[in-house]
Amino acid sequence: MSNDLMKAAVLEKPMTMTVKQVRRPSPGPDEALVKIYCIGVCGSDLHYYEHGKIGRYVVDRPIILGHELAGEVIQVGDQVTNVTVGDRVAVEPGVTCGHCSYCKSGRYNLCSEVVFMATPPVDGAWAEYAVIRSDFLFKLPEGMSYEEGALLEPLSVGFHAMRRGRVGPADRVLILGLGPIGLLGIQAAKLFGVTEIIASDVVPFRREMAFKLGATAAINPLEGKMSEQISLLTVGHGIDVIIESSGSSSAISDTIGLVNRGGRIVYIGLPTVEKVPMDINLLIDSELDVFGVFRYANTYPAAIQALKRSEIDLRHSITHKFALDDIQEAIDVARNEKDKSIKIMIYPDREHAENSNHN
Ligand SMILES: [Zn+2]
Ligand SMILES: [Zn+2]
Repeated sequence: MSNDLMKAAVLEKPMTMTVKQVRRPSPGPDEALVKIYCIGVCGSDLHYYEHGKIGRYVVDRPIILGHELAGEVIQVGDQVTNVTVGDRVAVEPGVTCGHCSYCKSGRYNLCSEVVFMATPPVDGAWAEYAVIRSDFLFKLPEGMSYEEGALLEPLSVGFHAMRRGRVGPADRVLILGLGPIGLLGIQAAKLFGVTEIIASDVVPFRREMAFKLGATAAINPLEGKMSEQISLLTVGHGIDVIIESSGSSSAISDTIGLVNRGGRIVYIGLPTVEKVPMDINLLIDSELDVFGVFRYANTYPAAIQALKRSEIDLRHSITHKFALDDIQEAIDVARNEKDKSIKIMIYPDREHAENSNHN
């Protein structure tokens, strides 16, 4: 099997994507070969496509993008015991060293040795097959679709944010910025038992999506003072936890004045400016807890269990589906129709793109 080829979408250089035959990877002793059913398009993929780099990660040779995937195990190395051929699995795309203090303490997202799919020079999975270390594969329970398996990846960021912010059922939560992370963050909040979720974005379509995904209110930050809108919606109770996923530097600055005294703020969205002004006096005076979020750790098993017991369907966030052959069209939609597209799903098998129903 090792000499076979597979179809993959390769970013040759920024703005140049070609679908072509590449070598199909073969699994080592502790790895499995996964036949990919579907793969999401992420903001980071688009960023590499457009700019060829994110921070210190630079595309200096052709790379396969994509890291939100699920599929079927079709071959395993001889040391693999947790999955077998035929298993439907979600793939956690960051493989860690397993030995450093972060890995051993459970915060493996901070491991400096992490090998993360579609982060140069590591190939991703806009392809027919991927090889992954088997401890990063998670069996999908019966009734959970491949699409939901793939969406566990962006959901995990919100899930991790809820854990970081110690979010619980009694909290009133405000989610700023309704891209895929913020929108799936609404569903993550629901999985943590939150019943009052206020979502905020300037784009009307995204606010509509927020309702569809379970927000109790969706506000436009440009329509009057945020603090007044929040006060009205919460009947004066205010917000206990803010999940900031917009990355807007003014939104980030404003969080400190928006959350209740003693409240918690979780920052996910990366601002494009280097430094953001913050009212530290107010932060101290209000005894705020602030948290950063970098990817996630140990979210897949918990999220799968939580989803199994819930009515939540992650697929509501999917707005478009494309065959892998049409990856350019998918990228164009993602770049040019930001107001109408949320999560775009890619299918190596065209029939799956056309026949799988959702929403
Ligand atoms: Zn992603
Ligand atoms: Zn490590």
